[in-house]
Amino acid sequence: MVLLDRSTLMVVFAVTTLTMLVLFYFDTYRKSRAPFAGWWCVAVASFFFAAVFYFLAEVQDVGWSGSAGNGVMVLGSGCVWAGTRSVAGRRVRPWLLGIPAIAANAIDAAVRYTEHARIGNIALLALMGTAVGLASVELWRERAHSWHLVRSLAVATAFCAAYYLSRMAGLALLGPADPLFQVLFGTGVTLLMAIVLLVVVSSSITSLNYARRTEDLQELASRDGLTGLLNRGEFMHQAHRRLRANAEAGVSTAVVMADLDRFKEINDRFGHDAGDGVIRAFADACRSVARSGDLVGRYGGEEFSLLLEGAAAEEGVRIADRINAALAEYAVLPGGAGAPTASFGVVDSRDRAAGLQRLLREADRALYEAKAAGRNRAVIGSPAAGRESADQRR
Ligand code: GH3
Ligand code: MG
Ligand code: MG
Repeated sequence: MVLLDRSTLMVVFAVTTLTMLVLFYFDTYRKSRAPFAGWWCVAVASFFFAAVFYFLAEVQDVGWSGSAGNGVMVLGSGCVWAGTRSVAGRRVRPWLLGIPAIAANAIDAAVRYTEHARIGNIALLALMGTAVGLASVELWRERAHSWHLVRSLAVATAFCAAYYLSRMAGLALLGPADPLFQVLFGTGVTLLMAIVLLVVVSSSITSLNYARRTEDLQELASRDGLTGLLNRGEFMHQAHRRLRANAEAGVSTAVVMADLDRFKEINDRFGHDAGDGVIRAFADACRSVARSGDLVGRYGGEEFSLLLEGAAAEEGVRIADRINAALAEYAVLPGGAGAPTASFGVVDSRDRAAGLQRLLREADRALYEAKAAGRNRAVIGSPAAGRESADQRR
């Protein structure tokens, strides 16, 4: 590194940033269009232009070019901060990033040919260190699913911010010609650091992007498109695990099957869209009544399944009542038609070791009893079959 002169290093930095920008743009940004990937593209592009400006200043001795380089570096650092905010869905007004960039440019231009020339670089490092430090804080606060990636980015940016701020302190206290400053914070070391950071952040953001997309796809694959409830496969998967854990802990679990009443008539009278609206209203009713530990799934068509954590069948019946009451509130059919209703079959796992399939079968049997008994009610099923609840007529 010592053998490389400053202008060669500038070229290395420019080529590295340009390569990174092209790779990142096509490989990551274009595939996801994620805001944080977009901000990182602008940041890397800014670093590239800064390298070009610095090269011009170094080789051609163009004064304004060095100051412009500082401004663009600060702009790039601001984009890093904006990008980390967008990871958590927080927005930044783009024009806000222009203010420190213009300040860095103006301060450097004002002092560059005076005896206080170093103030330009002190301002540059202070602004960059602050922006990257804020980026680190944003990442540290983020509790995403892919948090280990976010955490490693937080560490990388914190390290980078600490370096910039230390370099600023070194410049202010020792001066640029001091041998210790040269060893710790010389141009070569700083550019090498910047290149390492670019590689680390780019690869972390690419991984983060993939992790986010995988999470999105998993979420999509586990949800029902119409209602947003768990789909049947995911309900079965999660319910199976819950039931086993509850059985080991000796906790009762209630399983409920629900089916909308005379739903074909609703479709026939009001159309399929109105029918879809009732299905969505039923899902909303379940969501409003269910507690945080409960599972609600769309079992198929207009049939739903619920797992009620720590509940006995009697409580399941009360919950079914409340779902029907909420459904009447949410699903308003045209022409003053009566509110739609649902029937429920409820069982629990109290005092026995029953698997999910068996509980669902029993709940389904109880549901048919509820239909046969006139609908709009919940019936408790039992292994002995036929044990009917105190009828939940409304
Ligand atoms: P019952 O009270 O006995 O349950 O009578 P029902 O008319 O509701 O009978 P059933 O449960 O067999 O009705 C199922 C109907 O639900 C048939 C189908 O057209 C309708 N359906 C299933 N999925 C959807 C859907 O996603 N949207 C709409 N609009 N209708 C659906
Ligand atoms: Mg049905
Ligand atoms: Mg039905």
